Amino acid sequence: MTNTENRPCLFCNTISQMREVEETLHFSCLCTGGKGWYTIDRDCYDDYDARRYPGHLISGYIREMYENGHQVHIDSENIEQILRSPLIPNHVRDKIEKLLVYLYRNTEVIGEPVILKESDFNLTYSPKATELITLIYYLRDQGFIEEEVHSELGSTDMEIIMTPAGLEQGHELLNRQKKSNQCFIAMSFDPGLLQTFKDHIFPRIRETGFEPITVDIVHHNDNIVDRIIYEIKNSRFVIADFTHQKHGVYYEAGFAKGLGLEVIWTVREDDIGNCHFDTRQMNHIVWRTVEELGERLRDRILATIPGARLT
Ligand SMILES: [Zn+2]
Repeated sequence: MTNTENRPCLFCNTISQMREVEETLHFSCLCTGGKGWYTIDRDCYDDYDARRYPGHLISGYIREMYENGHQVHIDSENIEQILRSPLIPNHVRDKIEKLLVYLYRNTEVIGEPVILKESDFNLTYSPKATELITLIYYLRDQGFIEEEVHSELGSTDMEIIMTPAGLEQGHELLNRQKKSNQCFIAMSFDPGLLQTFKDHIFPRIRETGFEPITVDIVHHNDNIVDRIIYEIKNSRFVIADFTHQKHGVYYEAGFAKGLGLEVIWTVREDDIGNCHFDTRQMNHIVWRTVEELGERLRDRILATIPGARLT
């Protein structure tokens, strides 16, 4: 059953159009800059405790993931994890960098403006517009953007032009960011296995400072293979789980290796005998339970991936 009504979003507090499909609520609100959707389980929506979760951080996370092409789904299991995501800024420096990267990515022609609204303050994970505006003034004082102007009198649209110095800085930051905290998970799309990974493996990966990405959470219209390649290229390392022996996982692991990325090989114990002869001698983490795999993966990442740190 599908029904559409106006409901407040829990995270950006705007009344927005909500579509309900089989206990999943789809919101299109300021969290995605009014451009796309995120989804949330109905029970998570109904039981949400605003005093417990800082909604603006979740809104910032949904926005950043959306801008990177990922559609976020929220349920009562992952909401805590989201707040521990390495994407969430710890310091004002992180917020400034996020804003610069956004402006850089959205500048199509040098010298032409990017339009920002005051309501875009989730781009910097800010609780209100004042913070975004203060950061814009800071970028102007640093020479990264030209004086912003309101498009029309009374409008909340700001036209922001990046200076060449700002574009250079944005470019550098984007390259650093891309390589900094994404970990691609190549695995079978079996719904049961995928869900167990999300519940038990993803939190362990986040503890090491990396954000796990699988193509199933990537919202895309592109050819899926192009999208996988794009995500692998933007990852620091890859975890390849060979349980169920999917050809795609062999392809993705090989592609990542070819790019010089670290690949962590894993397989469930009952499937190691089925692994392809050429890769069977790789040092797999052979696991029995996902809890055990989660711990061993966390330890392996901390030991072998430069920049990994317990968060
Ligand atoms: Zn929202």
